[in-house]
Amino acid sequence: MGIFDAVQLYGHEQVVFCSEPAVGLRAIIAIHDTTLGPALGGVRMWMYRDEEEALTDVLRLSRAMTYKAAVAGLNLGGGKAVIIGDPRTQKSEALFRAFGRFVESLGGRYITAEDVGTTTAEMEWIRMETRYVTGVPGRSGDPSPFTAHGVYYGMKACAKVVFGADSLANRTIVVQGAGNVARHLVEHLLREGAHVYVADIFPEKAQQLCHDIGGTPVEADAVYDIPCDIFSPNALGGVLNEETIPRLRCAIVAGAANNQLREEHADAQRLHDRGILYAPDYVINAGGLMNVAAELEGTYDPRRVLEKASDIYNTLLKLFRMARERNLLPTEAAAAIAEERLAAIRSLRVMSHARVCPSLP
Ligand code: NAD
Repeated sequence: MGIFDAVQLYGHEQVVFCSEPAVGLRAIIAIHDTTLGPALGGVRMWMYRDEEEALTDVLRLSRAMTYKAAVAGLNLGGGKAVIIGDPRTQKSEALFRAFGRFVESLGGRYITAEDVGTTTAEMEWIRMETRYVTGVPGRSGDPSPFTAHGVYYGMKACAKVVFGADSLANRTIVVQGAGNVARHLVEHLLREGAHVYVADIFPEKAQQLCHDIGGTPVEADAVYDIPCDIFSPNALGGVLNEETIPRLRCAIVAGAANNQLREEHADAQRLHDRGILYAPDYVINAGGLMNVAAELEGTYDPRRVLEKASDIYNTLLKLFRMARERNLLPTEAAAAIAEERLAAIRSLRVMSHARVCPSLP
């Protein structure tokens, strides 16, 4: 597929290719939609196989950000950036400052943040070149507790739909990934009396988490085969696919990972056909974005953010009801909610400012 075809496929407004050979910067910034506000989304640094893979990733991730903000009721647009490179060996101040200059050149249409392969340290380098960056230390901070809080309430909504009661006590929950979000999520689940299994591709991370707070560590590949009530993906994307969905032995899939479905429509259909309720990833994992949005509004209060993240419970109940009534998959209902809000705001008339007539005194 040609570049323009790929860009048109998802309806992006603007895609910027950033090159600074002096420091080895090769990056892409994708602005999907700014109807609701400036396009916000993290910058991912990854060893992409080729440029096409990087472009596909940034286009898909930035569109998900538009939908995430739209469903969460935030006044933000969708954007994302990728830097092609190995985050373990190719990071430097100059590289991230060069990236920061490209962000600055967009005049606030795109606001960056940390993502896979980047940390707050690089955000400080970017901040030397532009103020359009969030997640710098000393501000709203680590979004993971807020993301986990929202995922926890989202799981309860799923339980309400499937089991008729939202308590997670005595439910068996398999958590894939033992990273930042998983740690906070497992704390919530154990506090409520759930039986929790945890897996990570680095087994020592799962063992450490369980040693610190509880739960039972399991092998990374075993997660799809364990009989459970809820399977919770909190690692990387693409884990729900043709090979893994037939193996699942759960009633619900609900977790924080972005782009959990390898093939968006086909895999959502596969889950539905197996009678598994799927909580669309960008709806249930919006707590972190709510946290950043509060920082940008300048009225940061972590308690208010937690309240808003708890409301993912009601958002999901509404979404599942709409899916039932309109005979849609949950992913289709999520997209419909996002597109309806975007269309409504786009349809508002533009009020031009009164112009002062030059002949008036
Ligand atoms: P993290 O990097 O702290 O943790 C991810 C963990 O998953 C790591 O320990 C990694 O070793 C493990 N992992 C990778 N592949 C695996 C596999 N196949 N099986 C088992 N474990 C595997 O990341 P995080 O901040 O906890 O985020 C987790 C997911 O949630 C990511 O997909 C992220 O994009 C998404 N997300 C995070 C936030 C947030 O606030 N941090 C917000 C929205 C979405």
